[in-house]
Formats: sequence, C-alpha cells, structure tokens
Amino acid sequence: MQMRNTALRQPVEVEEIFDTHPEVSLDFEHVQAALKQGYSKPFLLVDSNIIRNKARRFKAAMPRVQPHYAVKANPDPRVLKTLIEEGVGFEIASISELDLLLSLNVPAADIYYSNPMKSRAYLEYAAAKGVEWYVLDSVEELRKIVSVKPDAKLYLRIDTPNIGSDWPLAGKFGTHVAEIKEIIDEAANLQADLAGVTFHVGSQCRNPQNWRVGIERAIKVFADMRQAGLSPRLLNIGGGYPVRHVKPIPSIEVIGEVVNEAIANLPENIRIMAEPGRYLVSDAAYFVCRVVGTATRNGKRWMYWDAGVFGGVIEVTEGLRYEILSDRTGPSIPWSVAGPTCDSVDILMRDELLPEDIEEGDFIYIPNAGAYTTAYASNFNGFPLPEVVVL
Ligand SMILES: *Cc1c(COP(=O)(O)O)cnc(C)c1O
Repeated sequence: MQMRNTALRQPVEVEEIFDTHPEVSLDFEHVQAALKQGYSKPFLLVDSNIIRNKARRFKAAMPRVQPHYAVKANPDPRVLKTLIEEGVGFEIASISELDLLLSLNVPAADIYYSNPMKSRAYLEYAAAKGVEWYVLDSVEELRKIVSVKPDAKLYLRIDTPNIGSDWPLAGKFGTHVAEIKEIIDEAANLQADLAGVTFHVGSQCRNPQNWRVGIERAIKVFADMRQAGLSPRLLNIGGGYPVRHVKPIPSIEVIGEVVNEAIANLPENIRIMAEPGRYLVSDAAYFVCRVVGTATRNGKRWMYWDAGVFGGVIEVTEGLRYEILSDRTGPSIPWSVAGPTCDSVDILMRDELLPEDIEEGDFIYIPNAGAYTTAYASNFNGFPLPEVVVL
C-alpha cells in the first residue's frame, strides 16, 4: 500500500492546536484479511473497538458532557449497539431513526429529537412513543410542537458562527439573535417548557473557538429565559468534532479544553450534552471499492470506481478531501475520478494526484470513512449499496 500524499500530510497551518494528539485508524491488515474472503461490491469495514475507544476518549476530554450520537452519520445497528454499550445516548431527525433505536431498547427519554423542522405526523408518532425532548428554532415550530405535545421539553437552536467548518450550516437552521426574544416570549405565553439551548458549529469544524462562542451565546439566552419565567436546564453543544483526513485538525482534547473552560461556571442543575456524529465512527472504518476501468479523454486520465457520489463517496463533492490509497507505487499524476453511473454529477475528483499505474481491477482504500458514506448511498442506476462489515 502506498501513502500517496506525504506532501499533503504536512500541516498547512502552523498553529499549535493542530494535531497535538495521535489519531487512530483501522489497521490495514484487517482490510487485507477481509479482501481474502473475496470481493463482490464496495464495502465499509468497521472496527467496533475503535468506536468504543472514541466514545471513551470523547467522555474523558469533556467529563461533564454526555454524548448523544447523531444517528445519521452511520445508522448501522451494530454501530448503534456498540455505542449503547458505551453508555452513549442518541440524537435523531426522523421516526425511522427513532424506531431503529427503540428496536435496540434505547429508552425514548434518552433520545433527543434534534431536527428543527418536524412534520406533525412525525411529532405525533414520537410523542406517542415517549420522546420528551424536541428542538425548535422558530415560533411556528414552537406552536406546532406544543399543539401536539403541550408538556414537551424544548430546546432552542441558536445561530452560531461556522467559521472553519468544512460544512458551514449557518443560515439553514438556528434562530438569529434578533428573533430569540419573540420565541422566548411566546414560550412563556404558551406556558411551554422551553428548557434548553443548542447550537451546531458545522461539521468537521476545525476551529474550537466556535464552541466557546456558542456556549457564551447560550448562557446569555439562559438569562433571558429565566427573566421570562422559564427554567433552563439543558445545554446541548451539538456536533461538528473533526476527524483526521488530509488536513490537520484540533484534537478532541484541545476542543475539550475550550469547552470545559466555557462551561466551568454553569450550575450543576444544567445538564450538558453534545451530539457527535462523525467523530465517533469515522476513524473506525475503511471504505473499499474497485477500479472498473480507466480511459484517456482529451489527453486527461480518468478512472471509474464501482462506488461514486451515489455509492457512498459523496462528501468529496462538498469539499472533504479523503486520503486515497491503492496498492500501486508508480509516480503520481493528475487523475479525474468518477463513479460507475451515467449521471454527469457522478464525478468525485478532478486532477487528484494518484499513481499513474492504477488500472482496471485495482482496489481503492479510503481510511477514516465510517461516517456519511454508507448512510448516503443509493441504488441509483442499478448499482448495489455498499455492504457494512463490522469487526
Ligand atoms: C448532523 C448533526 C450532528 C452531527 O454532526 P457531526 O458533524 O457528524 O458531528 C449533530 N447534531 C445535529 C442536529 C445534526 O444535524
């Protein structure tokens, strides 16, 4: 196996917060052993021990913060079971995620419904199943939830900076400062139990200060809530904790220092939770696919994999840069990489430096790909979903 991008492994930023703690990856020997069993389609090889260690490391870095895993990152039941065994709670966006957790005997009261936009039918279902905590970020959603479940425990998602995140979310969700007062007043008016504040710094966030800013804003909102007669008792610091790919990252310990300092003066009766998704599962897995064929088009080299945008490798289209490994050792040349479907959006990378001697049938190995890969995959154009193999 060739470590293609040694140059890219050098930190670009010279900031001391980056890469201060070693990150783990699934041992490549497991991938080789899995391939000895044969290959019929792309697969994700997951090591549940790494998931366990990441859960423990998260808790050690932020002892006061209870992690609630964002199911969407990887909803495989074996992944969820591993997290249950580690005492991790959950965050959901839909009722099929809820059903999955209930089928694994997760108590509904430990499940947080963190999607700011929920259909009335989904709310009725979740309420009937015993879910207690619901997020909102608008007056309309507040009224909708309360009309379905008057005694719901509610938390307000506020806007927070997404500077330094690979997926800035700002704008889609989160109450802007100017609209917070109206929501608090309406909650008091409806005698609704608006009891918490949350924010999401954006996925793969490499700037720990965003959590500090979010926590400081939340503490201000708590004061406004108290003034309106509400009793705030939940701080949910969301997701966004990064994993190592080709760019340097602040470790969870560095983020933890910032968070721990920001929450140090919060009274004991405030429950503090987080919603890590990517952080808990990404490093635990390799994504393995295969080169279907190569071609030269207008003088440029192209390779086509049996998994592309629709087969699980979609985050590259939003700017995530994976490490791409193969068994070839030839000098690197610029390649365009595409998936196997006929859709013109199914292009993964252009001018990606990869060995020139890659050819049909070669395996492609993508480390740290346990999050947002298989969860996104579809059967589009008749190609199979990647398999999830758990060690
Ligand atoms: C997706 C999501 C998360 C998890 O984000 P990561 O970047 O994977 O940590 C957490 N909370 C909410 C509300 C989300 O939508």
